Amino acid sequence: MIRYRYNVIVADPTWLVSLSEIAKERGVLPVKLIFAAGDRMTEAYRNYVQQVWQAPVILGYGSTEMGGGAGMECHERHGYHLDEFNLLFEIIEPDSEGYGELVVTTLSRRTWPLIRYRVRDITRFLEGFCPCGTTVRRVAPIRGRRDEMVVMGAGNMYPEIFEKVLEGVQGISGNWQVAVRQEGLRDILEFRLELTNGIAATAVEHEVQKNLESRYPDVWANQVCGMYRLAFRFFPPQTLVHGRKRKRLVDERGE
Ligand SMILES: [Zn+2]
Repeated sequence: MIRYRYNVIVADPTWLVSLSEIAKERGVLPVKLIFAAGDRMTEAYRNYVQQVWQAPVILGYGSTEMGGGAGMECHERHGYHLDEFNLLFEIIEPDSEGYGELVVTTLSRRTWPLIRYRVRDITRFLEGFCPCGTTVRRVAPIRGRRDEMVVMGAGNMYPEIFEKVLEGVQGISGNWQVAVRQEGLRDILEFRLELTNGIAATAVEHEVQKNLESRYPDVWANQVCGMYRLAFRFFPPQTLVHGRKRKRLVDERGE
């Protein structure tokens, strides 16, 4: 970076976090902008990287089937502006908040055209114009994969919910899994967490419950009403190590 004086970084999220850790130790070079792909870049990671480099992290959204990039954030960093010049986007079976499965039709492609291709990602269109001035429509950050959604006593659950609930909780690693189990007639929402830094399990439980209550009051209310029960299981570090495809939210009812 010093030799070529790069001032824009385009990187895989995981790699970017590692690079930032190195940069924090050895010194940071002036960077204007950092681009990364969206799915594994949590807000906690993004904040960390932005803080290290003192530069905005702009996320892109896409998939192999869509031909790579299908949308990108602007400087506002609030949803992805879509490539509506080349792709037609629809959201099917939206819920009351507008969240549903993204469906794509290619408009300009001669090879591998797609007609109403089900991307399996859950998102919604954002209302109104973006302050950046671009009139191209936006979708909200992806909530999760359709096959990761679990309908249960707490409501429609997505991995994104637990990512947000666990954000900022001290003493746990980034490797976690939430399982929906059944005991008798009741759904159990079980947090499986790795304890680090020797912080007491009870302190972590307290913190997670507090976050759930303040960040997702509806989900919390369903627990207070007895629609489901919360449970916690703790593991030593590196026992829940995630492969890229390992599910963060699993439905184990009926197993
Ligand atoms: Zn914008």
